[in-house]
Amino acid sequence: MTTSIRSLDMEALADIVEGYGQPRYRAKQLHEWLHTHNVSSYDEMTNVPKSLREKLIEDWPLTTSIVTERLESSDGSRKYLIELSDGALVEAVGIVDDDGDLASPEPKDDKQDASRPRLTVCASSQVGCAMGCAFCATGSQGLERNLTADEIVDQIICIGKDFGTRVDNVVMMGQGEPFQNYDAVIEAIRRMNSDKGLGIGARHITISTAGITDGIYRFAEEPEQFRLAVSLHSADQATRNDLMPRLSGQPLRKLRKALEFYDEEKGRRITVEYMMLEGVNDSNEQLAQLIDFCRGMRVHVNLLPFNAIEGSSFKPSRHKTISEWARKLSESGIPASIRHSKGQDIAGACGQLAGKRG
Ligand code: SAH
Ligand code: SF4
Repeated sequence: MTTSIRSLDMEALADIVEGYGQPRYRAKQLHEWLHTHNVSSYDEMTNVPKSLREKLIEDWPLTTSIVTERLESSDGSRKYLIELSDGALVEAVGIVDDDGDLASPEPKDDKQDASRPRLTVCASSQVGCAMGCAFCATGSQGLERNLTADEIVDQIICIGKDFGTRVDNVVMMGQGEPFQNYDAVIEAIRRMNSDKGLGIGARHITISTAGITDGIYRFAEEPEQFRLAVSLHSADQATRNDLMPRLSGQPLRKLRKALEFYDEEKGRRITVEYMMLEGVNDSNEQLAQLIDFCRGMRVHVNLLPFNAIEGSSFKPSRHKTISEWARKLSESGIPASIRHSKGQDIAGACGQLAGKRG
């Protein structure tokens, strides 16, 4: 894949325009169009000379992501099917006024205006996913390809434009395993975070991984305060192997070590996602194993109700069980909350994105 013009800094842009015989200050104009105005074509760059635009169209084509379908839920969230330049399809969801964001509650910062609802975007990192988790609609698709950084950022831009507001939180919880597309995902979230780009605070950008340990070690070394969520779903090795077969090579003790490292390096609370499946991972013994796994680390457990997917034999745990778990975790000194899934009526919940047309 060729380099995208959106991934270049001011210096590199200046070199390009200079190469076309133009003054270096044009780089600043270009940068503004690309990252502040997020234009999707060079023709929108009205203060850039036509001759330069024509050269750029030729040598540095812009990727175009188009919303081909948009479903609105009765709770205000919207699911989008986005078609990429090569015709591949991904889904992303915009969720309004969630309490905090989908990871764990964080205080609002000064960039966030308390008087207006907040917009959280759940974005995809891959077309499909190679991990094949038993309960996941994306997993049954297999991996088609990685998304580029542009394509990841485009999802945020498309949804922000559609809601007509700034995006407050981003969760990489759509299709795909972010740490299997590490470089593009990091480049994308850096651009979202940049003041010259979308200006979303690092503490409001969360990557959710199924538990790819080398990704966790790398992520711990990134200088920004991005947040980490890990899909655990069971602290019992055999159960986890059944649910997430491709992760059996990265057993729980290895995962726990990686999380301890992250905790030490970053000192940031890790979100542990635990989707509750009746009769599979919701027994008292499983709860004791979860408490054991979490003990001694700064974590926040997010209990997710399972969203039934077509043809699946899994059932969500009872509300009573989920609330009991939340209470018992808290009593054991482990902060826990229940995620209320938005967009049920549009099958818009994160992790339930199949990317199929129609
Ligand atoms: N691949 C990453 C991120 C995408 S999945 C990961 O697995 O963490 C985002 C979250 O949705 C994960 O916690 C995933 O386990 C969960 N999920 C997948 N299918 C789901 C379903 N049918 N109902 C509820 N959550 C689901
Ligand atoms: Fe991939 Fe995450 Fe779905 Fe597992 S849960 S198949 S890792 S998207």
